[in-house]
Amino acid sequence: MTYRRTLRREVGCTGIGLHSGRPVRLRLLPAPAQHGIRFARTDVGVEIPATLAHVGEQDHATTLSRDGVSIGTVEHLLAALAGLGVDDARVEVDGPEVPVLDGSAAPFVILLHEAGLRPLAVPRLHIRVKEPVAVVHGGKSARLTPADHFEIDYSIGFDHPLLRHQAVSVRVTPRSFTEQVAPARTFGFLREVEMLRKSGLALGGSLENAVVIGETGVLNNKLRFEDEFVRHKVLDAVGDLALLGFPLLGRLEATRAGHALHTAVAQKLLATPEAYDIVPAGAPAPERAPVVNGRARELEDRVESPA
Ligand SMILES: [Zn+2]
Repeated sequence: MTYRRTLRREVGCTGIGLHSGRPVRLRLLPAPAQHGIRFARTDVGVEIPATLAHVGEQDHATTLSRDGVSIGTVEHLLAALAGLGVDDARVEVDGPEVPVLDGSAAPFVILLHEAGLRPLAVPRLHIRVKEPVAVVHGGKSARLTPADHFEIDYSIGFDHPLLRHQAVSVRVTPRSFTEQVAPARTFGFLREVEMLRKSGLALGGSLENAVVIGETGVLNNKLRFEDEFVRHKVLDAVGDLALLGFPLLGRLEATRAGHALHTAVAQKLLATPEAYDIVPAGAPAPERAPVVNGRARELEDRVESPA
């Protein structure tokens, strides 16, 4: 049996929005069991649950919206919350976007470590894939299939010499997420960045928060992983699948997918009652491998028995 978890204490930071280029203040707060993850725009007084029902625009990032108010670029923070196993938390922002920070989920993971996690006296339930569902769009696809753990197989291919093909398979746990997925940064092609800027987007984008790919190579000094690009796609998928509202027991197989396909396949799962059930944690075997980075284990150690 595992229990729902929230933050031990409030944490926050300030950063700029990727698209607006404006400073945003972010606060993460503990919440009671069953609250789920909810975003609040404190500047306009609107709260938006992080669920598929509130998905708005998905051009280059995932936006949540409600009553004409939206919060953009939620996926990296959602990925950090889901990746570390946070079920209940309140997220406050005083503007239209979550700060982009370094373009990865690593700063959010650090914030969550600062907050510490605490179990709530309510068992955690999972959404378990029983039968495959798929969304295919041209050469792009996203498929959810049964698996005993949360796994992602991702492959990408672009019409660019640097990025013809990358593929990775990850079993998503707090440790693998922290070490192999969270540090992977957003990426974009220089030619696209110029187009986005012309349409008033990516105004906060810079080499500080994205890997930019030029005609002949990466403009940034160096990559964090040789296959950082496909790892970032895994990160995005963890964040987008968190909108299911339950941790996933199943495998995502994604080929050249993106935010829209991630959420489309999740919607399709929810729309296909025979394809899933909601079950208590099947007590996945705890990881016993030596800790390289130390952070994930440290976090697990800090989680005590529920009150
Ligand atoms: Zn992303």
